[in-house]
Amino acid sequence: MEKKKAEEEALENLLLYIQTEKLRRTQERESILRTIYNMEDKVSIEDIFKKHQELFPQIHICRSTVYNCINVLLKANVIHEQKDKSNTVYSKVYGNENCIELICTKCRETRLTSADQFQPLLENIEIPDFQTHHFRLTLYGTCAKCKISTWNEK
Ligand SMILES: [Zn+2]
Repeated sequence: MEKKKAEEEALENLLLYIQTEKLRRTQERESILRTIYNMEDKVSIEDIFKKHQELFPQIHICRSTVYNCINVLLKANVIHEQKDKSNTVYSKVYGNENCIELICTKCRETRLTSADQFQPLLENIEIPDFQTHHFRLTLYGTCAKCKISTWNEK
């Protein structure tokens, strides 16, 4: 899915949630969602706050606004929350569906790769009392950079 389409789809779902829950449609909820969808995968509250200032300098927000909006975005199911040791990061639900996340256990660098070859397999897994919508698979290992530095140490 291209970036723009994912952003619009996420916004549509957020607005639907706001309407269903009878919440107020605020400019900040929309601008924070757009900020996250214009960033790389896995960003912290601080990253979002900084990027928001850059993208929407005319909308003044404070960190607590970001926290509050994040809660709404999580409930609307348009972003994911992941906890990694002491760090909490957020990623997009739309546009990154059915991907494989590769995490280097040495330098903690992460990247996403396509899971097209596993898609038919994973979509057909039947788990009792659970309906799968999409998946995100995490593989832990060593990245190319760390592999080379291990060789050099020997
Ligand atoms: Zn590494």
